[in-house]
Amino acid sequence: MKLTVVGCSGSFPSAESACSSYLVEADGFRLLLDMGNGALGELQRHCGLYDLDAIFLSHLHADHCIDMLAYFVARYYRHDGGRADPIPVYGPEGTEQRLTTAYGDTLAASSMSEVFDFHTVKPGTFEIGPITAHTELVRHPVEAYAIRLEHGGRSLVYSGDTGVSEALNELARDADLLLCEAAFTYGKENIPDLHLNGREAGETAARAGARRLVLTHIPPWTDPQVNLLDARAVYPGPVDLAAPRASYEI
Ligand SMILES: [Zn+2]
Ligand SMILES: [Zn+2]
Repeated sequence: MKLTVVGCSGSFPSAESACSSYLVEADGFRLLLDMGNGALGELQRHCGLYDLDAIFLSHLHADHCIDMLAYFVARYYRHDGGRADPIPVYGPEGTEQRLTTAYGDTLAASSMSEVFDFHTVKPGTFEIGPITAHTELVRHPVEAYAIRLEHGGRSLVYSGDTGVSEALNELARDADLLLCEAAFTYGKENIPDLHLNGREAGETAARAGARRLVLTHIPPWTDPQVNLLDARAVYPGPVDLAAPRASYEI
């Protein structure tokens, strides 16, 4: 698998990065994890507008899904006059309704489904093209999922947004790469079941025995170097800060 960071800013975009969005490629199949603010523009650096094969939305906070509205426009009103064929969109209960409502009342209730084939995510295992996906509920104020992707004997785990989560520890067991949120600063913000800090992300990777840790979803008001040092203090493996356009072969 190849992981490319499309956007990694937490909660709102920064001057340098769009919000959460990650492109995963395997055997020519392209899966996008989340599509936060600004992601659609950045995505076009990495593939054509209509080259995605599937989309997974970890949860329905705007910084993870709001560019689906812009992407709907691109698929529904193609400049050649046709509609783009529906691609699978995996998301929590109510994803289609939420996106339709956010778009506004000019849209017929069924329009989204003309270009997106919505599937409701539950905890479990399913196939996304050539990739096997395992999902688990994590700790966040809304229904939110972490996902483990397996292909060719390798594994990538994405935390989505979560506080400290036993389910994430298990899901990330022996992962080749753990892409983990670290929105908070250790010793500063401490709100349960919302976000991890750098230290907690490092502890998650250490407990799981993950082989590599990439910290993401750091908001513009948080110092990423502090979170990086906090993670390195508790996790002995390689730790990176996610950056737009960075890519990893897994
Ligand atoms: Zn978020
Ligand atoms: Zn969130």
